Amino acid sequence: MVTASSPLFRTRIVLCRPSHPGNIGAAARAMKTMGLADLRLVAPEKFPAPEARWMATNAIDVLDNARIHGGLAEAIAECTAAFALSARPREWSTQVLGVRAAAARAVELQGDVAFVFGNEQAGLTNDEMLACQYLVHIPANPGFSSLNLAQAVQVVCYELFMLSGKEVPEMKGEKPATVADLEGLYAHLEQAAVQSEFFDPASNSKLRTRFRRLFSRVPDMEREEVNIVRGLLNALQKAKSK
Ligand code: SAH
Repeated sequence: MVTASSPLFRTRIVLCRPSHPGNIGAAARAMKTMGLADLRLVAPEKFPAPEARWMATNAIDVLDNARIHGGLAEAIAECTAAFALSARPREWSTQVLGVRAAAARAVELQGDVAFVFGNEQAGLTNDEMLACQYLVHIPANPGFSSLNLAQAVQVVCYELFMLSGKEVPEMKGEKPATVADLEGLYAHLEQAAVQSEFFDPASNSKLRTRFRRLFSRVPDMEREEVNIVRGLLNALQKAKSK
């Protein structure tokens, strides 16, 4: 049964800039077969569209309840983690996980989580990838590893389905940090790095990506911990301006 604490209930599927509405419908169907229902569309090229309805068949409810967002940040802001799916390895990325390990991590985490998929032609942009805490790969033929968008959604939903019911009981107490909390921390770190002249924003240093990589390896940061780091930054900034 899908309860509120079930990973199937807490997981949203986010499609970034999908160009083919048939894939949106097929993704809705893939989700429903595995018990997921929360579909988010970031700037879809063509939606609503009859092709989406044809491909969704009996998953029309998932399609009709899909929420449309102008940008990825808005679609994942209150999640405690976002997992970016990419067929291609990236030179500079957040923590990389295979799809099975990613599903296991999602099940362990508290709060809502997002699996984020790229556009059919171009995949995810670097900025979209870096807005997520993990980079996830579905193992496939090294000579042809790019799955159809809806089929990639199917694999993720299947892995989550196979783990559902095995989730750890929710811990009471500290609130987990959300993606929006982390974005606040990154912006603050960058501001402090510039202000202290540790970092020249005009240089093409990888500092921003480095911070994201670093914190992507802290899987369950608490909101209070983010606040402590930001409080320290505030104090240092104040001391410097005196
Ligand atoms: N041509 C694009 C691939 C687009 S496939 C590229 O080179 O990136 C559409 C989306 O499906 C991808 O952005 C990714 O989110 C997902 N996807 C396809 N194959 C995948 C794989 N092997 N591992 C992880 N995600 C995959």
